[in-house]
Amino acid sequence: MSRTFVVHYSEVALKGKNRPEFARALTRNIKRALWGMNATVSQSESRIFVEVDDREQEVAEKLSRVFGVSWFAPASSVPPDYESVRDAALRCAASLPGRTFRISARRSDKSFPMTSGELDRTLGSEVVGLTARPVDLSSPDATIHVDVLRRRALVYSARTRGPGGLPVGTAGRTMHLFSGGIDSPVAAWLLMKRGCRPVYLHFHASPPGEAPMDGKVARLVKVLAGYCGKSTLVLVPFAEYQIATMDAPGELEPSLFRRFMRISAEALAPAFNASGISTGDSLSQAASQTLWNIRTFDEGSSLPVLRPLLTYDKEEIVSLAREIGTYELSLEEYKDCCSIVSRHPKTRAKAATVSEFATRLAFSDFAWKSFDQGTLISYDPERPEPKVLPLGDALRRAASRDAAPRPLASRQDDAGLRSGKP
Ligand code: ATP
Ligand code: MG
Repeated sequence: MSRTFVVHYSEVALKGKNRPEFARALTRNIKRALWGMNATVSQSESRIFVEVDDREQEVAEKLSRVFGVSWFAPASSVPPDYESVRDAALRCAASLPGRTFRISARRSDKSFPMTSGELDRTLGSEVVGLTARPVDLSSPDATIHVDVLRRRALVYSARTRGPGGLPVGTAGRTMHLFSGGIDSPVAAWLLMKRGCRPVYLHFHASPPGEAPMDGKVARLVKVLAGYCGKSTLVLVPFAEYQIATMDAPGELEPSLFRRFMRISAEALAPAFNASGISTGDSLSQAASQTLWNIRTFDEGSSLPVLRPLLTYDKEEIVSLAREIGTYELSLEEYKDCCSIVSRHPKTRAKAATVSEFATRLAFSDFAWKSFDQGTLISYDPERPEPKVLPLGDALRRAASRDAAPRPLASRQDDAGLRSGKP
């Protein structure tokens, strides 16, 4: 017998005229999350319905990771007549936990011949008659919910909270500076929670041609893909940059490297249809993240820089990382990324000085040279293996595609390349 999950959306429901679009995006994301599970997903009467034959536990786990889901419950879906509702309520009562109970009925279809109050009382006495459980209206051990809709009635007891937020893909994309540490995966997760799709951009110290494709960074992206499906990781070696900045003052190294990362992210953004840059920065967590150095990082950027963790304490970040499932991986030693560390970094690197270095040393040229040695990895839950392409080839291909008239990357194809500088 098939089982129905009823899924409610939270903030999505508040979005006025955008509501149908958000609800469609959520339905699409749920379908993607349940891909390969033989689930039928449909949307009606301000709810999303998921019908499955088996693997209920797995379905529940997947639903609890889809942003935009407020709560969900496995339910009996029955015809909207009293006898069917009563039978479903009695079946539900037979397996309730605890002792006391109450009925909580809601009638969206006002043509149903009984009011919600009448349903509460009548069904309540039927359940007492069958199970001898006492009713407790103020703090029952369990509640039997009855929703009478136009085309069906739903009876359920166990509601599970979803992650809330907005469906991924409804708030655009950012080029997300991704380090493999604890912070940047959590920042990515928070962006997804607000509907944004991060395109992961990682700079590594491995020689060009030896991108860390199965390393910790790639495995972190796979964990995060559990929350947003299709994901794109861009791996860029920073050897060219290191050679260029060999003689730069040590105290400026972190600020210069961060400026290089920003310039690279800005340059790549159009190819990935990204409208912003994001980082795992947290105010004053390190010398590179003082307000003054944040200003230096942002100076001259044509794109907004989003920092979801700006005001988070490390303990708060760690606790979120544990919840999300990235913490243990983030702690693993990472040999591919000798992060640029200076012994006495400046806490107030002057924006003008950093800009001067960036221009004199032609950071932008080094960024494009590095892209030519980069790697693009696309993860798609519907494909067993990720797709791997040389980044330079992918950018050139996207640019030449754009030369011919063709529709823009569709909204549904969130992970696709759009255009790029050859
Ligand atoms: P994380 O911040 O990811 O926990 P971390 O604390 O070691 O790691 P920081 O030195 O705090 O890293 O770096 C601040 C931010 O700069 C990171 O959150 C990330 O957005 C970006 N960043 C640092 N190193 C890299 C890198 N190698 N590639 C891409 N982005 C990076
Ligand atoms: Mg950090």
